[in-house]
Amino acid sequence: MPPKRRNAQPVQNGGQRGPDVADVLILGAGAAGLMCAREAASKGLSVVLLERGPVPGRKLAVSGGGKANFTNRAVSPKDYHCDGSRGNAFCAPALKGFTPEHMLRLVQEWNLPFEERTHGQLFLTVSAQRLVRALTDDCRKHGCVIACGTTVTAVEALADGFSVQTEGGSWHGKALVLALGSPAWPQAGGGGAGYRLAEELGHNIIAPRAVLAPLRLNSDSPLLDLTGISLPVGVTLGQHCWEDDLLFTHEGLSGPAALKASLYWAEGAAITLNFLPEQDVAALMDAPQAGKQTPRALLARLLPQRLVDTLLPEETARRKVAELSRAARVAIVEAVQRHAVTPQATAGLKKAEACSGGVNTDEVDPKTMRSLLQNNLFVVGELLDVTGLLGGYNLHWAWASGMAAARELARSATARAAAPATD
Ligand SMILES: Cc1cc2nc3c(=O)[nH]c(=O)nc-3n(C[C@H](O)[C@H](O)[C@H](O)COP(=O)(O)OP(=O)(O)OC[C@H]3O[C@@H](n4cnc5c(N)ncnc54)[C@H](O)[C@@H]3O)c2cc1C
Repeated sequence: MPPKRRNAQPVQNGGQRGPDVADVLILGAGAAGLMCAREAASKGLSVVLLERGPVPGRKLAVSGGGKANFTNRAVSPKDYHCDGSRGNAFCAPALKGFTPEHMLRLVQEWNLPFEERTHGQLFLTVSAQRLVRALTDDCRKHGCVIACGTTVTAVEALADGFSVQTEGGSWHGKALVLALGSPAWPQAGGGGAGYRLAEELGHNIIAPRAVLAPLRLNSDSPLLDLTGISLPVGVTLGQHCWEDDLLFTHEGLSGPAALKASLYWAEGAAITLNFLPEQDVAALMDAPQAGKQTPRALLARLLPQRLVDTLLPEETARRKVAELSRAARVAIVEAVQRHAVTPQATAGLKKAEACSGGVNTDEVDPKTMRSLLQNNLFVVGELLDVTGLLGGYNLHWAWASGMAAARELARSATARAAAPATD
């Protein structure tokens, strides 16, 4: 006899209850869980999604400032960071199976208008809530049960599937998909339950770290006086270099340039900022017409005056360029183009768009997201140790990994149905 669902809460699916034993139980109705559910249900599988929040897709709804940077024109493994032994090569098969063009086709099918911003980032021009609704409508159209307000507390692997305990009763499924996200941004449902449940099923967790977060500076940093200034900068951190916008805040550094730095930053590391990435400040000072000017006036044509006054050493700022020693000129170049700053910390989980770390990718099949440790278990989305850069890559990973798992679930159901009966 298959195990039965006991004392389960009423579910939010037009009053419909879930099957006693679902083909697929998906834990977490975020971007990855919804995409996986939609695809698996569309292939005829009975799917139940368990979500602790009052509504599905809360993080998706706040993503991209409420407009969801839902993918990027160009997505490849190099846009991701994984600590597992395969590194970001782990992402390649899933990204190949579900590309930005695939996502764009869906967005167009759903009649959701979008626009391209800098660096190939694709954002909706309407509320991200519309994307959540499109996904949930599709799920429900295919008979998927979405049980909101259902907090999963424990999971157990059985001989023929899984039993999932919630605060309102237990649910059973032949296959289980963990799509529980990360603890980043707890205001929109982020939490660490996924790590705990994955560990209960035998997986190892790479220690999570708040990333894509602003960086805090020491309280005596002169850069804290620059609150509100925003400008494009070059950033170098270890072997990584990029250019993007930096925003000074009362706590430290924010904006895409700083959020990206938080992904590579480790405690004690210095970040090098180039406030004039398009210029050669040494050459500017060497130009004949520069000699009569002060470096303060020369640079204030290119940078906000407050920033120039903070960067330049007081004793040289107001002297004529022609009067400066070679060492003084080098000090100015260093201050403007190789400005080293050592953050104190990231701004933490409450302000982090993602967590690095998660389920070790060495324990998951990269083509299908199938657990290599537990039969019929799948792990998708941010719960895995796959972290995208800023620019639509994390949502794209949620779509691609959710889709990879759903296709495998459908493929193995078809294979089972086609197999000759053994008795
Ligand atoms: C403010 C913000 C803005 C962002 N903007 C972008 C962007 O524009 N582009 C981009 O690519 N990425 C963005 N990201 C990152 C992106 O949103 C996430 O990487 C992505 O949503 C992860 O999807 P997921 O399905 O793996 O996890 P989630 O969306 O976090 O879904 C996990 C779900 O599991 C549920 N859950 C947790 N514990 C339990 C439990 N015990 N029982 C039942 N359910 C549970 C949660 O409530 C949640 O709904 C942003 C993140 C934040 C915080």
